[in-house]
Amino acid sequence: MTARSSRSRGVRGSQVPNDPTPASAAWNALVREIEGCTKCPLHRTRTHTVVYRGSFAPRLVFVGEAPGAAEDRTGVPFVGRSGRRLDAAIERLGLAATEVGVLNLLKCRPPDNRFDRSAARTCRPYLDRQLALLRPRLLVTLGGNPLRAIDPGAPPILRAAGALRVGCDPPVFPLLHPAATLRSRAWNERWERDLGRLAEGLRHGLA
Ligand code: SF4
Repeated sequence: MTARSSRSRGVRGSQVPNDPTPASAAWNALVREIEGCTKCPLHRTRTHTVVYRGSFAPRLVFVGEAPGAAEDRTGVPFVGRSGRRLDAAIERLGLAATEVGVLNLLKCRPPDNRFDRSAARTCRPYLDRQLALLRPRLLVTLGGNPLRAIDPGAPPILRAAGALRVGCDPPVFPLLHPAATLRSRAWNERWERDLGRLAEGLRHGLA
């Protein structure tokens, strides 16, 4: 069994239990580091750090911006209404739980859910280390802030969403944030259109 295939299992939560591979040891060390992190002021108001859910050998990883109240309470990214919307999208894309991962730029909830750019810069190395261990073939950013952080040259989200960006490694497919699609009929229609484009890309070997 290769190191990658030994990590190919869907796991909801932060750590890789009982997995002896070097990658899992590095992952668990990273999780412990994040759980103890006090590098930015968001550590003072968090209940839990929110690190990851999904496969440890994902084809693609969804990148949101920050935990909300439900995520802070549970320590799991994308639970609650946005999470249900995202999970429905994953199902629509025909992807199994073992093929995807879900995480955020920020690992601690910003008060009042106000995105904190300075904290995101401080937190960014954790994201890079997660992605180096997970090695997805495609990133799907959710909303404007993750897109800007990962691909600073990208146009605003309403122009960028639904079109593959190949200048990054791995390539990025931007989508609107699922929470936005719950607030606006027009954005919901845009979400559906862009998901259709992503599904088409996946059918043709995008990831
Ligand atoms: S948001 Fe990131 S950098 Fe700030 S305390 Fe949490 S883990 Fe550390």
